Amino acid sequence: MFNNRVKIKQLLAQEPKEQEVTVMGWIKSFRNNQFIALNDGSTNANIQVVAALGKFEESLLKRFTISAALKVKGIVVPSQGKGQKLELKATEIEVLGDSDAEKYPLQPKKHSMEFLREIAHLRFRTNTFGAVFRIRHSLAFAVHKFFNEKGFVYLHTPIITASDAEGAGEMFRVTTLPFDNPPRNDKGDTDFKEDFFGKSTNLTVSGQLEGELGATALGDIYTFGPTFRAENSNTPRHLAEFWMIEPEMAFYDLEDNMNLAEEFIKYLIKYVFEHNREDLDFLAQRLAEEEKQLPQDKRSEMGLIEKLDFVLNNSFERITYTEAIEILLQSNPYKKKKFQYEVKWGIDMQSEHERYLVEKHFKKPVIVTNYPAAIKAFYMRQNDDGKTVAAMDILAPGIGEIVGGSQREERLDRLEARMKEMHVPAEELYWYLDTRRYGTVPHSGFGLGFERMVQFVTGMSNIRDVIPFPRTPKNAEF
Ligand code: ATP
Ligand code: MN
Repeated sequence: MFNNRVKIKQLLAQEPKEQEVTVMGWIKSFRNNQFIALNDGSTNANIQVVAALGKFEESLLKRFTISAALKVKGIVVPSQGKGQKLELKATEIEVLGDSDAEKYPLQPKKHSMEFLREIAHLRFRTNTFGAVFRIRHSLAFAVHKFFNEKGFVYLHTPIITASDAEGAGEMFRVTTLPFDNPPRNDKGDTDFKEDFFGKSTNLTVSGQLEGELGATALGDIYTFGPTFRAENSNTPRHLAEFWMIEPEMAFYDLEDNMNLAEEFIKYLIKYVFEHNREDLDFLAQRLAEEEKQLPQDKRSEMGLIEKLDFVLNNSFERITYTEAIEILLQSNPYKKKKFQYEVKWGIDMQSEHERYLVEKHFKKPVIVTNYPAAIKAFYMRQNDDGKTVAAMDILAPGIGEIVGGSQREERLDRLEARMKEMHVPAEELYWYLDTRRYGTVPHSGFGLGFERMVQFVTGMSNIRDVIPFPRTPKNAEF
């Protein structure tokens, strides 16, 4: 048996009682020819390994370079130095893997996030990414915990779909046809009958429509899976491949939907507060330093911990789209012509508008409801005013839209009429319409972009820094 190690996180929580333990990890630093800071990824904290002077061969000490991998057996003793409660007095040290310090790309200095993205295969070894990915894990775990406690069924919706009717975004095509010379039909178009599935298929942009099929039998379901959008948007909050959580609930109206979404977001934040406090504190510190570089008016009013605490302890503001537009029209940036994009009833609010509402006006998360039907999807429930639909978006400080959801149109005639208006082919979606034919019920759901949630909790300003290997236009490295 090789793996007889104790993880450094567990070890640091023990009392030093001269117990013998084995640790394994990578060297962060080696100083005074005797003190090794060893890290194993279980925490950002290192264990101080003491290789007593004279005890180990000079030839071995030479191999204690940054990022070399070690197996260390030793005795846990109270630390003489400051900054740590205990240290490990090494009795045996084995180098599991050498590391050439001259060539190692991660030097012990501050690297830019852009540089670290270029070496994303190694960036897990930095304190920042260690903290981010442990928090990402906790959030994913908390997602399942939340829904499991509420009796939701985790439904795996397909990743390859043939429905191109959802309209959520540009799709990536999936095909096994030769792209240089595909079979053609009589009209000269590509003949997808010859393709693997006998029709044209894509990577999913959302599992919602299939989710509704599950909800209208199982009651409450959620999906949590990869989502793909070939949108050519180079922004700090868009990825071509991202993860989305889509709960779908039978017997929920729009208000029930909002209540669930707000409870869910707060639950996730609370979970991370309780389980990743050290990592959060580290990222809060990091963010505070990053913000010092910004001009005064670009800095956040609250630190990361303060912000999360505030979100946890305050209700989200709930306003209608019409109210939101009113507020924008009364705003200073509007009057001073500071908004780049037009403001009037009917617009699809741009990031600058959303950020004004959240960061300047309300200074807290805002749920905007009842958007114009014309800018929303066909499946959203039509309101009695004939102009708006029962949609809700949650806007978060620093992020913008984090959740998009709605009550779904459960009335068959209304839904069919809307599909016709929007040129959504009803024949192709017969399976979706069947839920409205056989025991239709009021139901609702929403989509939470997982990476945007991770961004919100970690305070990372670019979405590419909260997913291990980001896929964006012109970038699919690693
Ligand atoms: P946006 O206006 O920000 O592009 P959207 O209106 O396209 O978002 P929806 O289709 O409602 O978003 O998707 C639901 C959620 O998925 C969004 O609220 C957001 O959190 C997330 N999301 C959408 N597109 C992306 C993307 N390209 N990368 C990462 N997350 C995304
Ligand atoms: Mn979008």
